[in-house]
Amino acid sequence: MKSMKKITDENVITATPSGCEPLNNYLKNDSLKRDSGPGPATAKDFVLLGPYQPNINFPTTNHRHFCYTWYQRYNWLEFSEMIKKAHCFVCRFAYVEGRFEKEFTIDGFNNWPMAIVKFNKHQAAASHNYANDLWVNAVKNYKTIMMLQNKLIDNMKKKL
Ligand SMILES: [Zn+2]
Repeated sequence: MKSMKKITDENVITATPSGCEPLNNYLKNDSLKRDSGPGPATAKDFVLLGPYQPNINFPTTNHRHFCYTWYQRYNWLEFSEMIKKAHCFVCRFAYVEGRFEKEFTIDGFNNWPMAIVKFNKHQAAASHNYANDLWVNAVKNYKTIMMLQNKLIDNMKKKL
């Protein structure tokens, strides 16, 4: 099984059992729905796809802007085209009121000069690590269920 650390659109698609492609393609192309702008409400709908990481012309705030390379360094990081701010996907996914940083789950972060310092601090937080474990397990469980389901279908086909 592939590493759970970096879930990209590509390996979600290849790991998806046949018959699910139309749904995944639909989700993949529907950037408006994946955008983190609405906060924690929508993250659970995109468990398999993970963070929304558009490569766009990032808008400038106080002479600085979001950098595309940050996605590689922080695989939980996402950028909302809707509100022009960054969020944390795993914290949005596991969100419980009062237990997660509002900045990375609801309000969004755009203090770009402080980005690396804040991202490192966020990544080291216990709440973030708890959220990351939850997400990794959710993806693992989904894939196990899909695999078992496919085995079951195969067995049923053989009996027919
Ligand atoms: Zn987080």
